[in-house]
This record gives sequence, structure tokens and C-alpha cells, in this order.
Amino acid sequence: MHFLMGGIAIDRDGATGVPGLFAAGEAAAGLHGATRLNSQGLTEGAVFGHRAGLAAAAFADRAGDPEGGVAADADGAAAAESFGIEVWKADDPRIGGWHEALGRLSLPAVNHEGGIAGGGGSLDEDSFVQRLHGLMERGAGIVRGARSTTEALDEWEALARESGGLNKGVADPRRRFRLGAMLALARLLLEAGRVRGESRGAHHRSDQPEMDAAWATHICFSRR
Ligand SMILES: Cc1cc2nc3c(=O)[nH]c(=O)nc-3n(C[C@H](O)[C@H](O)[C@H](O)COP(=O)(O)OP(=O)(O)OC[C@H]3O[C@@H](n4cnc5c(N)ncnc54)[C@H](O)[C@@H]3O)c2cc1C
Repeated sequence: MHFLMGGIAIDRDGATGVPGLFAAGEAAAGLHGATRLNSQGLTEGAVFGHRAGLAAAAFADRAGDPEGGVAADADGAAAAESFGIEVWKADDPRIGGWHEALGRLSLPAVNHEGGIAGGGGSLDEDSFVQRLHGLMERGAGIVRGARSTTEALDEWEALARESGGLNKGVADPRRRFRLGAMLALARLLLEAGRVRGESRGAHHRSDQPEMDAAWATHICFSRR
């Protein structure tokens, strides 16, 4: 993996949808569109890391002031405004059917504490990570298609079922949280790849190699 194009929606100052949480660099999304030009990764980190750091310090200064918080925006509207992109929300009728599919998309495999739900399965942490890497490489890599993504979603379901025992095996709650977050994020990436029926920038679908102007937009998942 050379660079992840996609991530947390931020505004120009790195503010995310969670008040007080700032993001910059490869964890964030919006700046590069569907492809990143040479050398722009490190520049992005330096420029937006600096801006996010200043904004985070200002936020900390205002902590406790109920009027002073940075505007939170989990649905990508601030990112859209900052970077001049259009973000369709999940219930946008132009997406047709996708919002219904999203409504059905629950992540029962991930519990409220961020760990992996359930008590079954005997998978160890290394095997879990290896299998997740493998299925993402096959189903969400640079070249993908409906078939490879669907197979990866099936593998994801099987992995989620088998990994319920990980909570017992991994004592460190931060590591458990990380595993749950990996599982949830993998699913969202696969779903986004599945619904985007075109090729764009560095994202190539072998079964739909042409760019489709109707998809000149970001896919943004929001809990709200
Ligand atoms: C092989 C390769 C070549 C590249 N070449 C170029 C290039 O020539 N030019 C260019 O502009 N870009 C290049 N890139 C991209 C660029 O290097 C990255 O986009 C950039 O380094 C990302 O910076 P970052 O600070 O956002 O993330 P990272 O550099 O990934 O930093 C994240 C840090 O967070 C730490 N971390 C992770 N989890 C936790 C946790 N739970 N708690 C605490 N710390 C944590 C990690 O250990 C890491 O130090 C290249 C990338 C790769 C992989």
C-alpha cells in the first residue's frame, strides 16, 4: 500500500466530526481527490499538520467554554466547502438504492467499546490481521471488480464470525479497539468500492474501466 486516498472528513484546519479531535496527513481525506500527485503526501502532512496543530491548541485554550468549540461536522460538509467538492449523503436519491443498502449495513461484528463482538472463534491476532490484509488486497486493491469485492465481503463476514474470541485473547484494550476499528473500516472501504460503479484516478474497476461523470463525488459514511 503506497498511499490511502480516503479517510476522515476534515475542514481546512483539520477539525473532524468529533469536537476536539483533529486529523491531518494520510488519515484525512479530501485534498487529493481520486489520485495523489507525486510528492504531495509529505507536503500535505507538513501543511495540514501545522494547521491542525494550531487549531488543536486553540481548541484546547477554549476548552470548557461551551460557545467556543470548533464546529463539528461529521458528514463531510465542511470538507466539501474547504476543498470545493460535492459530498452526497447516504440518503441522496441520486445514489439510488445505495442508501437502502446502507440502512441495512450494520456492523454487528464490532461492539460499542470498539472491540470485536461475540465470544466465539479461536482466531489469534496475527492470523486475524493477515487475513484482513489479504482480503483487502484482493477486494479493495488498486484493480478490483464486482466479483473480487463481493468475494472479499464474504471473506469479511467469515472473518468477523471467527474473530469473536479475540477479545479474550488480547488483553490490551487499545489493541482490541484497533482490531475492531480495522474490521469496521475494512467493511466501509469494501462497501464504498462496491457501490462506485466506475474507474477514477488511481481506483480501477476491471469490470467498469470508464470514468462516469455521475460519480464525481466523495462517498462519505457518517454515523449521523
Ligand atoms: C513506500 C512509500 C513511498 C512514499 N513516497 C513518497 C514520496 O516520495 N513523496 C511523498 O510526498 N509521499 C510519499 N509517500 C507517502 C507519504 O510517505 C505518506 O503519505 C506520509 O508519510 C503520511 O504521513 P502521516 O504523518 O500522515 O502518517 P504516517 O507517516 O503513517 O505516521 C503515522 C504515525 O502514527 C503512528 N501511529 C499509528 N497508530 C498509532 C497509535 N495507535 N498510537 C500512536 N501512534 C500511532 C505510526 O507509528 C506513525 O509513526 C510514500 C509512502 C510509501 C509507503
